[in-house]
Amino acid sequence: MILAVSKGQPAAAIAAAHRAGIVDFGENYVDEALQKIAALGEHDLHWHFIGRIQSNKTRPIAENFDWVHTVDRNRIAERLNAQRPPHAAPLNVLIQINLAHEPQKGGIGEDALATLAGAIDSLPRLRLRGLMTMPPAGLSDELLREHFTRIARLAAQHATPQRPLDFLSMGMSGDFETAIACGSTCVRIGTAIFGERKPRTD
Ligand SMILES: *Cc1c(COP(=O)(O)O)cnc(C)c1O
Repeated sequence: MILAVSKGQPAAAIAAAHRAGIVDFGENYVDEALQKIAALGEHDLHWHFIGRIQSNKTRPIAENFDWVHTVDRNRIAERLNAQRPPHAAPLNVLIQINLAHEPQKGGIGEDALATLAGAIDSLPRLRLRGLMTMPPAGLSDELLREHFTRIARLAAQHATPQRPLDFLSMGMSGDFETAIACGSTCVRIGTAIFGERKPRTD
C-alpha cells in the first residue's frame, strides 16, 4: 500500500490526494493530526500514526487512528489496548525496529522483539500486523538492502500461524524502490506525493 505521509500538509492537500485515489494517510504529531481528522470527517480515510508516542497521548491515538506503526514498549501497548474504544475494531499495530540502536529514533533492537510481540499477542484490543523501520540516514544502496532484508527476515522468523507479521512498513520518498525490492508492503511517502512540507516551528 501507499501510505501518504501528510504531516506539515493542510487538510485541503489530503482531500486532493484522496480524490486521486489515496485512502491511507500517515501523521506524526497528535494535535496536528486531530485537527485534520476532524476537518476530513466526511471522507472515508484510514489514519496511521507514525510518530514517536508519548504515553500521555495514547488515548487520542487509540480513539482516532486505525493503525500505529511505532509501538516500541509494553507500557504503550497496554495503554493503547485499554484505551481503544469498545465499539471500534481492534487497533492494527506494528513494532518499530531500530537495528542500529540510534538514540534519536524510537524502536527496539532485534533481541527485544520476541518479548514485545508476545506481550502484544495477549492484548485483545490490539492486532499485531508486522514491523516498521527507518534505516539510518546516508546508507549506500547495498547497506540499505541489507537493512530492509534483515527486517523482512526478522518478521518471517517471528511470525506464527495466528499472526503472520506480513505487513512491512519500510521505505520513504528517498528509498522506496529499494524497500519494495526487499519486500516492503507499505511505503510511507511524504514529499514525493505532496512536495516540500511546512517546517515545524515548535
Ligand atoms: C516524515 C516521514 C516519512 C515521509 O518522509 P518523506 O521523505 O517525505 O517521504 C515517512 N516515515 C516517517 C516515520 C516519517 O516521519
